[in-house]
Parts: sequence; C-alpha cells; structure tokens
Amino acid sequence: MTSMLLFYQIQLCHRFKQAQMAAETIPEALRSLLDSDDVHFKHKTLTLGKLARFIEAGADQLSVISDFDHTLTPAIDEDGNPCAVTHQVFGDALKLPDITQKSNQDKIAAYSKESTGSDKLKMLEAWWRRAHDSVVAQGITQEEFIDRTRKTGIRLRHQAAALLRSLSMADVPTLIFSAGISNAISQMLDIELDPIPETIHIVGNEMIFDESNRLTAFKEPLLHAFNKNASVIEKSSPILSDISSRPNLLVLGDSMGDLTMEKGLGKERENTLRIGFLNGQMDKLSQFLGGFDIVIANDQTVHIPFAIATTIISSSIMN
Ligand SMILES: [Mg+2]
Repeated sequence: MTSMLLFYQIQLCHRFKQAQMAAETIPEALRSLLDSDDVHFKHKTLTLGKLARFIEAGADQLSVISDFDHTLTPAIDEDGNPCAVTHQVFGDALKLPDITQKSNQDKIAAYSKESTGSDKLKMLEAWWRRAHDSVVAQGITQEEFIDRTRKTGIRLRHQAAALLRSLSMADVPTLIFSAGISNAISQMLDIELDPIPETIHIVGNEMIFDESNRLTAFKEPLLHAFNKNASVIEKSSPILSDISSRPNLLVLGDSMGDLTMEKGLGKERENTLRIGFLNGQMDKLSQFLGGFDIVIANDQTVHIPFAIATTIISSSIMN
C-alpha cells in the first residue's frame, strides 16, 4: 500500500468518526423520523454529520432552493391518482393541433436515454416553445388564467405552507425554482401565505399580459427541466446574492434535473444538503441516491424537510 493511499484512508476514517460524533448531537425526534424505512441514504453517517453541522450553524447560515411541481405539491392524491402540475392550468391547450405529432416526438426523444447533451436541450426547448406558442395563440386573459389555476386544484403538500412560513420568519432566503408557470405558483402562494413574504423568490416561466390583460408572450429565458440552474437567473436578482452569502444550502426536488438548480452558485457539496422525493418509481432509488443525500419515498407531505428546517431554526433561537 502506498503512503498516499494510507494517508487517504486515515483521512476518510477521521472524517467518518467526526460525522458519527456530530450525528449523535441531532435531536432524538428528528433522528427517529430519519430512521423510517421510507427514508433512504447512500451515506447515512456522513449525511447525518452534514445535517448536524447545518443545525449547529443555524438559520443565519442557511438558504433554500426548492422545486415546485410535485415537490412542494403532492405527486399523488389520496386515491393514488396523479396530481396536476402548473402547466396543466392550460389543460387541453397543450394538446392543440399546433402541437404536432413531430413536436411530441421531439419531447419523447428528449427524455430518452439515447439523446445526449445539446440534442436533448434543443428538442426539449423546441417542444416547450411550441407549447407556449399554442397557449399564447389562444389569447387567454389574466382573469381566465386566474380562474383556470383555481379550478386546476393544484394544492401544496401538507406542511408546505408551514415550512415556507417558518423559513420566512427566520429570514432564510428561499428560492422556488420551477420549469412550470411562475404566475400560477405566485397565485397559489399568495393565497396560502397571504401574502408571499419578501424572503421567498419565485423563478419560473412567466407569462406577460398586455394592457388589456391578454397573454402576449412568455418571458425569456424559457425554463425547462434541463436548463433550470442558477445561470438563467438575472445576475442582478437579490436572491442570487442572498443565497451566495449563506454557506449552507438546502435543496428540495423530485427529479434528477432538480440537482442542477444550484449549479452556478459555486456551492461545495459539503455545504449542500439535497433532499429528494421519490414519487413512486422505486426502480429509480439507486439513481436518486447518486445525487440526493436523503431520498424520501412514499410520502406526499413535507414532514421531514419541515422537521429539518425547524430544527435548524430552533438551534439559532437557543444559541
Ligand atoms: Mg418537480
């Protein structure tokens, strides 16, 4: 064994022991939640060690980035039926004749394993642009949009409003980052949080209405599953500096694409705690564990992220 390898192993052993000791400082109530059979880790001790550091650092050092569709909203309802995402506010609009068979083939191809890099991006972007164009062509008014959003029945997961409120009360900068429709997210959160606190920023596909309240376009850049990362956010946006100034970042998502949300912020993996919801599809567990530190299965609430956030916040209050 070379001395270099030996040195590496000693370092690893030391890191593991430190994590083990830190993990023991996590409050028992949170520990037992994380011991559930539906909560999965690739490296449990190291992740608990990271979580313990987040708790010790407190709310002042924390920022949050969360996906919206099927992360802050449930993916499956009580009867096992899939829940709507924000684009479904348009209902059949996404099935209009302008969305040709060719476009739909592009979308399917974009998600296929065979497509790579720039091909995927081009195909998916082409599909979304056609979809958005078809929505604009309908000439929907703002009032109609508000009514449709209400009727879609999209709702937050249990405790999601409490999670957002707690983060806001502790002044934790929170970015809701979505490839969905930001207007629908704002409308929902405005009702749920009454009003949306200043610490919560929403970035998504934003609809532009003219002076007669008619939809004329979607704001650029177009956001989709493969380009949802910090580089598409305006450099002058205060949320970027708010998040960058806090060392610890909590990321919530429900797809592998959500793992790139913090890309461009220069965060170290050591300072990023990624929590993923595995909404069914247990065959994807090992893939999810390759990216998320904690994977929560069979749970349509935000019970665990709420417990983690409130434990971090409480530690600030006690210190
Ligand atoms: Mg999602």
